[in-house]
Amino acid sequence: MPEYFHSVTLDKEKCKGCTNCIKRCPTEAIRVRNGKAKIIKERCIDCGECIRVCPYHAKKAITDPFEDIFNYKYKIALPAPTLYGQFKNVWDINLILTGLKRIGFDDVFEVALAAEVVSDASKQFIKSERVKKPVISSACPAVVRLIRVRFPNLIENVMPVKSPMEVAAHMAKQIAEKTTGYSKNDIGVFFISPCAAKVTDSKNPVALDSSCIDGVISMKDIYLKLAAILGKIDDVEELSCAGMSGICWANSGGESAALEGEEDIAVDGIHNVIKVLEELEDEKLSEVDFVELLSCTGGCVGGPLTVENSFVAKNRVAKIAKKTANQCLVKNVDKLYSIDISWNNPITYQPIMKLDDNMAEAMKKMETIESIYEKLPGLDCGSCGAPSCRSLAEDIVRGFATETDCIFTLRDQVSMLAKEMIELEGKMPPPFRRNEE
Ligand code: SF4
Ligand code: SF4
Repeated sequence: MPEYFHSVTLDKEKCKGCTNCIKRCPTEAIRVRNGKAKIIKERCIDCGECIRVCPYHAKKAITDPFEDIFNYKYKIALPAPTLYGQFKNVWDINLILTGLKRIGFDDVFEVALAAEVVSDASKQFIKSERVKKPVISSACPAVVRLIRVRFPNLIENVMPVKSPMEVAAHMAKQIAEKTTGYSKNDIGVFFISPCAAKVTDSKNPVALDSSCIDGVISMKDIYLKLAAILGKIDDVEELSCAGMSGICWANSGGESAALEGEEDIAVDGIHNVIKVLEELEDEKLSEVDFVELLSCTGGCVGGPLTVENSFVAKNRVAKIAKKTANQCLVKNVDKLYSIDISWNNPITYQPIMKLDDNMAEAMKKMETIESIYEKLPGLDCGSCGAPSCRSLAEDIVRGFATETDCIFTLRDQVSMLAKEMIELEGKMPPPFRRNEE
């Protein structure tokens, strides 16, 4: 797997170079050059914000094709609880899970159930004070990547536990190995994802040696298959065993509610997340014990690979969860299966904005950036293809852009040139001067 695998990519044909996406990117990872957007791979955290804002659908998330499940003898679907909120007039999780079996899976394992296991482990972590407070949730991979590149001082606050998706994959494989007799390699576990960040995290996990997930299928793709058959199922199987607290992880506030702490906050939407991370960095939220941060608005229900309006889905998930209030089986599950819930590797700072390995050189470049920036208009208009005047100054120093990429600088230079031309014309020898009469 390449070092910078990304699910989020550009469809060049569709891109019109409109620059809508450059300003919304939280890591300034997009530039428009020669009329097309370009993603700077080292900077992208796969938050999916550009997928949401592109009016021409030129940004997309790469996921695995559904047909990949047939490469395995025993195929298990891992539905994110967000899937439960996607279908109009469907209030029975068992119907959706049975539908997954009807479209080709041999079994299902609810990620919501794994979320309860993770909640339990997180409570222990917080109690044990092994993580610096305020403890930051590690559930959203886009947020973890954001912290890694923009907020290195907060790395030690991040909860070092695996995501529900990863825990679900481990548990599903263990159970299938014990109950079916198939070997690990014959069992394929496929996560049904609401977002691009989880695709990237399964292909290139930041805190694990490797992922246990064999494929990630877009929720949109699964939705189409399920919507076609749900109305035709009359033998619904009793497959659901997750409880309310795990199902609510689909919505913003679900994880913090499951932790039952006193001073917890839940924040959603990548730009709100950045504001809160800045406050945490400035130690302004020291009274808070736990911070749930989700890149998508409304939580995972707002993921770019979902189908339903996020507000509708959020409401539906909450109602479905209420119905399953007393089902939580987590107490039994974590005793039955041995799951190592902690990360294999600590996350480390990725200095993507570094100007030079040599400190003195980096300082010199920084000074040049400042002096170029002072000459730019400071309007952050984006016409140059960079998200701000400062990022254009940085691009110039890195050798990726020139000062005349700024339309205002170019205009000044053109008018200066025109003035010089007029002055020069006046200095022509008399026989060549224009006849002004
Ligand atoms: S929003 Fe970005 S990706 Fe979409 S057309 Fe405009 S420049 Fe291209
Ligand atoms: S996915 Fe997020 S970080 Fe990556 S280019 Fe798009 S907006 Fe920027």
